[in-house]
Amino acid sequence: MLGLAEIFYSVQGEGTWTGTPAVFVRLAGCNLNCRFCDTDYSLRFFASPAQVVARVQALGGDCPMVILTGGEPLAQAESSALIEALRADGRRVHIESNGTVAVDLPRDVWLTVSPKERLHPAMAARADEVKLIVDGRVPREWLEAFDGRNVALFLQPEGNKPANVSLALETAKAEPGRFRLSLQMHKFIGVR
Ligand code: SF4
Repeated sequence: MLGLAEIFYSVQGEGTWTGTPAVFVRLAGCNLNCRFCDTDYSLRFFASPAQVVARVQALGGDCPMVILTGGEPLAQAESSALIEALRADGRRVHIESNGTVAVDLPRDVWLTVSPKERLHPAMAARADEVKLIVDGRVPREWLEAFDGRNVALFLQPEGNKPANVSLALETAKAEPGRFRLSLQMHKFIGVR
């Protein structure tokens, strides 16, 4: 069984797919413990992959996009079975991962990697987009892992705090061919 925190229908507020309606499946638990983490990924219920698919259908109807997030969604042994069940139901699966757990993902799965204290090279090589959290500094130590890859590098200001927004914006403007800004749009419109 999968351990879950919540399933809800909303809109992607970050990165390349900002503004796209999506069903969010938040898996419980994380293998890291970042000091700035503001996500409640506590375990609230268990469900099989088929039960998660049924909930996605009930909440999102035919919404094509399903985002597996956490916590760390790939830390659960049954995450691959969940991905397969959602793909079999015709969903486009997106995963938001800290990039520490190496999993062989189907090519049509969109992988967002947001590196924190460590990064698995296989997941750096697989990432479709990268989200760097700007929290008083730009975490440039991760850039080398994505060198030579045609992958969008987003600077995302932690908590949308003005100082972090400024730093992210100025950094993106200074290196416009390298960085893009991601502003957690859902927080501006008051949705999850
Ligand atoms: S990896 Fe993400 S979910 Fe896990 S503790 Fe860090 S910020 Fe929170």
